[in-house]
Amino acid sequence: MSQPKKLIIGITGGIGSGKTAATNIFQQLGIDVVDADIVARDIVKVGSPVLDLIVKQFGKGIILADGSLNRAMLRQQIFSDNAQKLALNAIMHPAIRAELLAQLDAATSDYVLLSAPLLFENGLEKYVDKVIVVDVDESVQMRRASDRDGVEPSQIEAIINSQLSRHERKNKADFIIDNSGSLLMLNEQVKAAHIWAKNLII
Ligand code: ATP
Repeated sequence: MSQPKKLIIGITGGIGSGKTAATNIFQQLGIDVVDADIVARDIVKVGSPVLDLIVKQFGKGIILADGSLNRAMLRQQIFSDNAQKLALNAIMHPAIRAELLAQLDAATSDYVLLSAPLLFENGLEKYVDKVIVVDVDESVQMRRASDRDGVEPSQIEAIINSQLSRHERKNKADFIIDNSGSLLMLNEQVKAAHIWAKNLII
């Protein structure tokens, strides 16, 4: 008999909204989490085929002395050159997608979460059945993310402005986790989301 289709739930939210804090709790509840940011980092590891492709495109100067990718230089190069940005996306996007799908396929928990800050912006919602949005207002995002990263709130504000608006994101949600309260309150909300998700499984 063929395997029933696995339920895949996307979890997204703006910078500093608490996706990682939330997915850590889901993991404690036994749910597998595939993290798009971690995949994007891991596929350019030293010795990876994707890193070789980046070197072919950008030259050996894009590699640091320890053999790893010079992310700051890469960011700078694509910032000032749109053709290079498109070339990088053409290398990265299919590789990220393939790895995400492989990890989602390998998941064994009752349902699996795909955590991606840019779930909608990068067209990843087509791989998920439902979407959870972790929501806080912009002032909380700025405070928590600037405390976490040790940067000025204005830097966080620029990133918030480059992402989907809070309103648009919430409109696309099937379940909203309000993370404006304490971590204890987040814990309760994640448990409620977990029950909701398990009830979706037939
Ligand atoms: P990014 O998209 O930037 O990776 P994120 O959505 O994963 O961010 P987190 O890293 O989980 O956000 O949370 C941002 C910061 O806020 C972290 O330092 C986290 O510990 C803290 N935080 C998250 N939720 C709460 C909360 N309810 N109360 C207090 N601090 C919180």
